[in-house]
Amino acid sequence: MSETQSQPVWRFAPSPNGLLHLGHAYSALRNYEGARRSGGRFLLRIEDIDSGRSRPEYEAAILDDLAWLGLEWEKPVRRQSEHFGEYALALDRLRNRGVVYPCFCTRGEISRAVEGTSDWPRDPDGAPLYPGTCKRMGREQREAFLMAGRHAAWRLDMADACAGLEQPLGWREFGEGQDGRDVRAEPQVWGDVVVARRDVPTSYHLAVVVDDALQGVTDVARGMDLFHATSVHRLLQELLDLPAPDYRHHHLILDEGGGKLSKSRGSKTLRDLRSEGATPADIRRMVGLA
Ligand code: GLU
Repeated sequence: MSETQSQPVWRFAPSPNGLLHLGHAYSALRNYEGARRSGGRFLLRIEDIDSGRSRPEYEAAILDDLAWLGLEWEKPVRRQSEHFGEYALALDRLRNRGVVYPCFCTRGEISRAVEGTSDWPRDPDGAPLYPGTCKRMGREQREAFLMAGRHAAWRLDMADACAGLEQPLGWREFGEGQDGRDVRAEPQVWGDVVVARRDVPTSYHLAVVVDDALQGVTDVARGMDLFHATSVHRLLQELLDLPAPDYRHHHLILDEGGGKLSKSRGSKTLRDLRSEGATPADIRRMVGLA
């Protein structure tokens, strides 16, 4: 059931697997201010499907940092871990449409299958496209594996899914401005993406489209690093008959060396900046939102 949609709905959707840095602050502020300017609602959604990496202390720190920045969000906080039932229903719908198949391959098996082919095609994130091993598996073997309790991930059969589309897919992209443009979606560049992982019964792509629809999200402001993933999101929305929000992909805040901010690169967190005496106004200035 979707929440009421009489007003624009914006959301900031961090994953609680680390502390927030300036890039998160920029994204959160863009959504918050977009909501305020459009007379809309602002939701905070904790993207915690990955139980191995999500930590309650990071969630607590995220809430604390955002409140310190001056953000107010609608209560309750939404959490993806509370929606596994909805993700399972969405996966069932994809199964019923015949556009997903179980995949038993390990990461190592996939690497071995593609190694040796130097120009093996890669997705926009640089990962090798899935070589289709389990798509070609015979029905009997597939059933035997499932009966034997072998855990499977579920992959979208990209060719079949795209072949069934009645018209080309696209989305309305506003970037960081007021004027929208139409972008043509190209989900094929991702190959047979995973829609439900072996260890988690959903994936980022599936959970995000189900949640955006469930929560009536109309406007998604997020980093450019997710621009290409929007093609997969549009395809899933089409297959699941879900509405498409407007998208506003913004530039990424980079470190002094021009690299992406990240924990692994030792980037400063909002916590670090706070303890060095930065104020919320300083943070806004640092991300160019004075
Ligand atoms: N949870 C994702 C992240 O932290 C953002 C997802 C989205 O905005 O669609 O990168």
